Amino acid sequence: METSRGWVVVGIDNGGTSNNATILDASGRFLVDRLVEMPSLVTEGPEMAVDAMAEALDNVLALTGTPPNAVRGVGLDTPGPASAAGVISSKGATNFAQPAWRGFDVRGALEARLGLPVIYNNDANAAALYAHHVRFGANAAGHSSISAIVGTGLGGGVIEAGRVVKGAAGMAGELGHVQIPMYGLLAEGQPLPACNCGFVGDAESVASLTGIERNLLPYWLTRFENHELSRIADPKEAAKLVRAYGEREDPLALKIFEQQAIAIGRLFTIAANFFDPDTYFLGGGVVETTPRFRQWFLGMVREHTALREEQARVATLALVPDLDMAGARGAAIAALEALQAPVRARTSL
Ligand SMILES: [Zn+2]
Repeated sequence: METSRGWVVVGIDNGGTSNNATILDASGRFLVDRLVEMPSLVTEGPEMAVDAMAEALDNVLALTGTPPNAVRGVGLDTPGPASAAGVISSKGATNFAQPAWRGFDVRGALEARLGLPVIYNNDANAAALYAHHVRFGANAAGHSSISAIVGTGLGGGVIEAGRVVKGAAGMAGELGHVQIPMYGLLAEGQPLPACNCGFVGDAESVASLTGIERNLLPYWLTRFENHELSRIADPKEAAKLVRAYGEREDPLALKIFEQQAIAIGRLFTIAANFFDPDTYFLGGGVVETTPRFRQWFLGMVREHTALREEQARVATLALVPDLDMAGARGAAIAALEALQAPVRARTSL
């Protein structure tokens, strides 16, 4: 098979409960068109988790009938915070709670386990890279984009000339922790929203599930007394339900999503002046919804993204495609590019 199809790279998207794996051949074609998931075992600690990544790789090879010797490299993405070289933050991370994860070199450990080069990105950067490549294809290197992905937090990625901007410490593209103006966003008497990172009034403090739980829902429940959501005891559960209420045009939920859309629009306005990208990608729960609610939300984001006339003529607001597969696919693209341009890749690690 290696002679007929050439060599391949494997992309592994590591998450809290599962690893999703994909295969990309040297011509840039994905050999898998769906989720191929295996348990990630991250809660069992690094050793078990690295074994689980190797199993995810073996599994996707077996599934596609790809011989192991065709694999020339592996792209790995995990949730952060982690360094550009794939070392988990010394303070730990939400997904990597066990103490053994602190400061653990997950990229290096997988590389040693497999005996293959492993190219690392955080999950939001991998998804951003995939979105960019789907949109621009062979012209990826001629364009720039940013991606904002709303989930538990607000993940981000910045792509310049087709490549992930990683930054000196690996912390470029942390769009969630960019502070945005709160004037005109908050209602009268609404407390300043706080973020887990210690900032007040950053994008994630509003535009994330955590932002709903900690900041937006507690305030709006005081303004809509006797709302059904006030009877849900667990704040996490209540926060998760807000989107379904939004889809039914519940006034409280619409207030919350309006504030999220304004926050994202203001974040994109900062990006416009800082970076001026071709495309602003938006992904996550806020747009994985009914077409009607998505259009309403995107319209609101567009309304609050202040572009100059010249920018508005060339820039586009678009959705991150295939979000559930975007991490694995972006990780694979990064690996393929690193192997095809080894000198540039080495300087970016
Ligand atoms: Zn923050």
